[in-house]
Parts: sequence; C-alpha cells; structure tokens
Amino acid sequence: MTEHTTMNSIRKIVIAGGGTSGWLAAAAISKVLGKNLDITLIESPEIGRIGVGEATIPTLRVFHKLLGINERELMAHVQGTFKLGIEFSNWANKGDKYFHSFGLTGRDCWACQFQHFWLAGKKYGIDVPFGDYCPESKAARLEKCSGENDGINYAYHFDANLYADYLKIFSLKLGVKHVEGFIEKVVVSPENGFITSLLLKDGQEIEGDLFLDCTGFKAMLIDGALNTPYVPYGHYLPCDSAVALQTELVQAPKPYTQSIAHDFGWQWRIPLQHRAGNGMVYSSRHVSDDEAIGTLLKNLEGRPVTEPRVIKYKTGRRMKVWNKNCIAVGLTAGFIEPLESTSIHLAMSAIYRLMRYFPQNEIVMSNVDEFNTQSQVEMDRARNFVILHYHATQRDDTEFWRYCKNMEIPEALAHRVQLFKDTAAIALEEKELFLNDSWVQVMMGQGIMPTAYHPIADVMGEMELKSFLRSLSGKVGETVAAMPTHQQFINQYCKAKPL
Ligand SMILES: Cc1cc2nc3c(=O)[nH]c(=O)nc-3n(C[C@H](O)[C@H](O)[C@H](O)COP(=O)(O)OP(=O)(O)OC[C@H]3O[C@@H](n4cnc5c(N)ncnc54)[C@H](O)[C@@H]3O)c2cc1C
Repeated sequence: MTEHTTMNSIRKIVIAGGGTSGWLAAAAISKVLGKNLDITLIESPEIGRIGVGEATIPTLRVFHKLLGINERELMAHVQGTFKLGIEFSNWANKGDKYFHSFGLTGRDCWACQFQHFWLAGKKYGIDVPFGDYCPESKAARLEKCSGENDGINYAYHFDANLYADYLKIFSLKLGVKHVEGFIEKVVVSPENGFITSLLLKDGQEIEGDLFLDCTGFKAMLIDGALNTPYVPYGHYLPCDSAVALQTELVQAPKPYTQSIAHDFGWQWRIPLQHRAGNGMVYSSRHVSDDEAIGTLLKNLEGRPVTEPRVIKYKTGRRMKVWNKNCIAVGLTAGFIEPLESTSIHLAMSAIYRLMRYFPQNEIVMSNVDEFNTQSQVEMDRARNFVILHYHATQRDDTEFWRYCKNMEIPEALAHRVQLFKDTAAIALEEKELFLNDSWVQVMMGQGIMPTAYHPIADVMGEMELKSFLRSLSGKVGETVAAMPTHQQFINQYCKAKPL
C-alpha cells in the first residue's frame, strides 16, 4: 500500500517545537540534507522548553561528531561536566551503593565475558570489586576524569536550555528558518488525513510536506491532530511525577550522576560547572507532591536557586511514532523515565533513523512500518533495562518498593534475569543500547548473583587466573593514577565563562 503526499516530493520540513529534540532534529537534517530541503522550526516562547534533560549517555558524542560539533566549544557553552556513569544508592537495600559505568570491565574471551572470570576469582578468595577492573568506574570513585585520547568512555551533563540554544545557533547557520509563535491549529487534509499546515496564533500559516512533532508532552500533532494511541508503561514504571530544582554548587562537580532511592521513588543530582540540577522522581499513588518536595528539600547539598517545579508525566510510547506525514521525536514519541538518561538518546536515535529512512518522493508504508517497528523495539528494550532497577530490589520497607518487587515484569526481562542467575551470561540481541557490562553491573548491583559461570573460566587454574586478574586491575590502577581530577580536566579542556 502506498500513501501519497499531496505533493510529489518531500521538500518542506516543518519542525514543531524547539526543545532539545526539535533543535537536534533541525541540526541533523540541515547538516545532512539542508541543501535540498526547506526546513522551518516553530517554537513558542510562551510555552518554553521542559528544560530538565541534563544527563546523557555516550552515544551523543558520536552524533556530535557526525554533525562536526567541536566538543570543547560545546562543553564550555553548555556549562558541561563529564559523566562516567551513574552511582545508585539505596536501590537494592537501604544504605548500599553500586556504580553503572560506561566503560568496559576487564577482558572478555570469545566464549564468554569478563564476569565469568571475575566470579571464578571469587572462588579463590579474590575480592577485588568488579568496578576495579574498569577505568571509568575506578576513576569515578576517585573523582578523576579524562578524555577520548586516553580511551575513556564518557557522556555529558549539561544545562538543557544552553544545549538547545547551542543547537539552535548551529542550525540557523545552516539555513534553518526559525519562527516564534504559538501553534493554535493543525490543519489536516480531509482526503488523506495528512497534515497540510500549522496555523499560528498571530495568523501565520506554515505549510509543509513532512512534519516533525517535537512539542514535548503536549504532542500537538501526533496526538492532538492525528490521535495516535499511546501504549502505557505505567504498570512496570510506577513513577509518574517529578519535582525539579537547581541549587548552588557546593563542591567540585562529581564525574557522574547520582541516583538516590527514597521510600517512594528516587532523587537525582547532576553537577554542572555553574550549578547543580536536582530532582525527585516519584509515584503519585504512593506520596503527595508536598511530601516529595519536602523530601527533596531535605536532601539537597546546596542552597536552592530556583523554586521547585512539579512535572507530571505518563510513561509509555506512541503506538506509531510515524503516522501519515508526521513523525514524533522526543517526548512526543514516548517517555521511559529519566533513570538511565535514555530520552535524549532516543530522540537522537529517531533522528538517525529518519536519516536512514528519509522519505523519497512520497511516503510509502514499507518505509513507515520499518521505522515504527524499529522504534518500538528500541523503546521497549530500553524500558526493560530501567524496569530491572526497580524490580530487582530486596527492599520491602514501603508500599512502593513492595509493589516494584512483586510486580509482573515483561517476559524477555524475566528470561534475561533467570539466565544470568543460572549461568552468568547476558543474552543480547542485535543492536541493543545497553550491552553486557551495563546489565551485569546493574544485575549484581541490585543483588542478583549468578550461581554458576562458564567452565572456560576454570581452565586457567588458580595461579594463572590470579595473575590475569592482578594484571588487569593493576593496569586500571595505573591508568586512573595518571588521570587528572575531574575539576582539573574541566579547567584545562572546556572551562566555561561565568554566566
Ligand atoms: C523529570 C524529567 C527528567 C529528565 N531528565 C532527563 C535526563 O537526565 N536525560 C535525558 O536524556 N532526558 C531527560 N528527560 C527527558 C528530556 O527532558 C527530554 O528528552 C528533552 O528535554 C527533550 O524534550 P523535547 O524537546 O521533546 O520537549 P520540550 O523541551 O518540552 O520542547 C517542546 C517544544 O515545543 C514547543 N511547543 C509546545 N507546544 C507548542 C505550541 N502550541 N506552539 C508552538 N510551540 C510549542 C515548546 O515551546 C518547546 O519549544 C527528563 C524528563 C523529565 C520529565
């Protein structure tokens, strides 16, 4: 089946929304296809951006490279700091801590990954923590950091508004037209249900062939006009609210995000060069807004510089992120929740996908279906990784944690957990976002310990295994010892001007 646009080629691209997703899309499309397209972005200063996406994962670096973005300049502009992973506190049990780093841990062999050798080492009394075989993990603990030239895998913390502004400047230089205005009406063709134009409050009418809906939780086009159903994730991810506020920085920024579990959700701390971002994610079924705000205020490290802002959300994904001639990117496409900083990545990934499946002369269903299937698989997989954190807990001290511990989980996740318990193996499918080491760190961090490991790990014998493990942790120790502190690295690499 072929659906035809009203024009016979896709030339006019209209991006509705100028948050991180809208400007990421504008930057990428203008860089890659800008010469042949007419790209307009509409944003409403009245509504503004959600402004809370401040922690990222390393994939964003690759995206920046494709765009030709200069990292030092970007990091200075966005008051950025480096992120080597996430420290989780109180998740498996009150008082415990574990680290999910972005680095590779130890050395794998063709038949099995490093965790099998580490488990074999325990049999011989070697109790070096798993993270001591990973430079990023060890560096984070010592608040050190270094860049790509030293083989370090990192992501960024940045000021969300400054990041969107940077992408805006970048896109405008590439010829993207910028319209400030409030979209009041989405005009849909009665013939084929395609969007033909957006009507603004000031009377302007912006026509297009392909529309990207980047209007955030408002989802004005994909939902408001096209009524595309939403598949809820609420059963698995009970949090549906957040309160965000910014504080003064009271110490050198840590090179990682902190995620601290509370009785009804969890708190984030994201240090930037000029301030810290803080928030509490919680389940409104288990706590009131006022109590969540009170708990956040009691657990801040610095003085607040903004008022607490409550944000309500529904976790889930759009059933079709591409519907007719509209593609949802960012929060319009779905939202897992911020725990593993997947949102900006998912927006970026949708934009990559759009580049690969960009409509040619007309919108054809084979292309749309492929796009939608890939988006759905990607989102559900990322969701499963986040569910793991909530479900694999030993906490049963509150109603919230009892719900998480006892809830039914997706079959694919249940299988993955069981396989790890039984064999220490992580069964990955093609093109997964979170790879072996991420799953192992979170499973073990949440208290899931395998009862067996691959027999190949016993082939070395005690002496050889001890020497292998010693040499790996020794090399990690040397690498980290030579690294500057995170603050020194920022100062020398991308020090921002005071705002
Ligand atoms: C509590 C919380 C914490 C988060 N933390 C992270 C994190 O650490 N890492 C991460 O990757 N992601 C995080 N996210 C997600 C992140 O905020 C988003 O992925 C990111 O900000 C992109 O948002 P967006 O561009 O899709 O939407 P928005 O930023 O909401 O942008 C929407 C745009 O649409 C415009 N708009 C809306 N309606 C109209 C209209 N009628 N007319 C004209 N313009 C309109 C607005 O003006 C705005 O420009 C978090 C989300 C929440 C809720």
